[in-house]
Amino acid sequence: MRADLHLHTTASDGLLTPEQLTEKAAQAGFDLIAVTDHDSMDGVESARAFAKPLGLGVLTGVELSCGAQKEIHILGYGIDPQNAALRAFCRERRAQRAARTEEMVNRLCALGKPVSVERVREMARGVMGRPHVARALVEAGHAASVSEAFERYLKPGKPGYVPKEDVRVAEAVRLIRGAGGVAVLAHPMELKMGETALESLVHEWKSQGLSGMEVYHPSAQNNHAHALYQMARREGLLVTGGSDFHGEAAHRGGIGEGLDRWRTVQEDTTALLSAIKDCSMKTEVKVRD
Ligand code: AMP
Ligand code: ZN
Ligand code: FE
Ligand code: FE
Repeated sequence: MRADLHLHTTASDGLLTPEQLTEKAAQAGFDLIAVTDHDSMDGVESARAFAKPLGLGVLTGVELSCGAQKEIHILGYGIDPQNAALRAFCRERRAQRAARTEEMVNRLCALGKPVSVERVREMARGVMGRPHVARALVEAGHAASVSEAFERYLKPGKPGYVPKEDVRVAEAVRLIRGAGGVAVLAHPMELKMGETALESLVHEWKSQGLSGMEVYHPSAQNNHAHALYQMARREGLLVTGGSDFHGEAAHRGGIGEGLDRWRTVQEDTTALLSAIKDCSMKTEVKVRD
């Protein structure tokens, strides 16, 4: 079987609509995908509807950003996209993102690289993020490519960068579980930590209700994925994989990228699906703060 459990659509900073994404995944021969937009579940239901006649399974999903200077992303699988608390949280985060985007645009103007907030807003449609600012910088001729815009202006430490407001991992996990979902740490390699330090953090988050780790992601080289797999097994965490695809034009790898090496995809997705079922059946999940 083929699965890709980390995909973005136009509901956040992806370039394909939920319909285009599901068509593409079905054509590429996937059996199961998850739509995991940043702070939005708006693409999930239409993706499900489009995928049904194509024989493609779509897991509901979301990607929440935690941390401040260091970004920690938590994926939620099997969440109820209509859950009131999770929707309210996402709405608040989107408002914060809009304010943050304005601040980034102001900084860029001060740097002599003006872009208009209206244009960024138009490009974003749903959730505003740095990729939209980067695309506006390219359009205005201030950068040759999105990756150059990130390198010069938008990465942490660069003059146009504004951090997000901090959210604790425990809080994100609590919201995801409260919405009937399973919480998974996204792309652990992007935390750029040593193995021992990462494991002690992951161990702590597990005690707060984290259920899994995204072992297979383009950020993990083969040797990293191997080490993460062993860590997940030691810590009793579910193993997942996703390409973090944002659309071809985003130039960050294709759908399914880095997932051919996910040899245990069948058993891992089965375990994930049964964990979702268990979680969804619990009316209340107690999480230590
Ligand atoms: P934000 O949520 O506004 O902090 O933006 C984060 C998003 O920007 C990530 O999910 C990626 O889609 C994208 N991104 C991060 N770094 C880069 C990069 N170097 N080049 C292109 N896109 C990036
Ligand atoms: Zn993104
Ligand atoms: Fe992420
Ligand atoms: Fe992502």
